[in-house]
Amino acid sequence: MRDASVGEILVQPDDLARRVRELGSQITADYEGRDLLLVGVLKGAVFFLSDLMRHIAVPCELDFMAVASYGSATDSSGVVRILKDLDVALEGRHVLIVEDIVDSGLTLQYLLRNLGARNPASMEVCALLTKPARLKVDLEPRYVGFEIPNRFVVGYGLDYAERFRNLPYVAVLETQAEVPIQAPTRGAQS
Ligand code: 5GP
Repeated sequence: MRDASVGEILVQPDDLARRVRELGSQITADYEGRDLLLVGVLKGAVFFLSDLMRHIAVPCELDFMAVASYGSATDSSGVVRILKDLDVALEGRHVLIVEDIVDSGLTLQYLLRNLGARNPASMEVCALLTKPARLKVDLEPRYVGFEIPNRFVVGYGLDYAERFRNLPYVAVLETQAEVPIQAPTRGAQS
């Protein structure tokens, strides 16, 4: 039974699977002859990343970062703290940052600056979702799954107060007030 807080479905499971396959093929073609390091941003990108990686055919390794982004329940401020750093060095590596969603872009801007300073051979971004209407910074992920309207969404790894990550689709969250918030800032880990 569907939770009353879960509203319109914006991306159906079949469309997620098809697009993830397409992105995997595109990344495979673009990185032919190179080894890739996928950097997943915990926790929201985990479902997308694990599906995506199975459709990438060049040699690839995996590492994770966890960041806390300060702000309200649904708005990030751009002030970011690293909760878990990478285990591997980026020097000389071809890095693909895998994000669940780019909203204002402030978190991604911070990550690009921080990881870019570690001298990777190349660095690109693959985001499952973007909200073009909300973008506050001048950056464009090289790979984007879907552009969505300015709505707060959950499912396929995306949470609200740690709930709804297990939904097999991406849907609008209708009634945020009814979901108890466990932390004073927007979920410590995205
Ligand atoms: P930004 O710094 O781009 O404003 O925010 C990026 C982070 O905010 C994402 O990684 C995600 O954790 C969170 N976020 C932004 N929009 C949404 C949304 O619609 N749903 C969920 N669940 N998280 C979001």
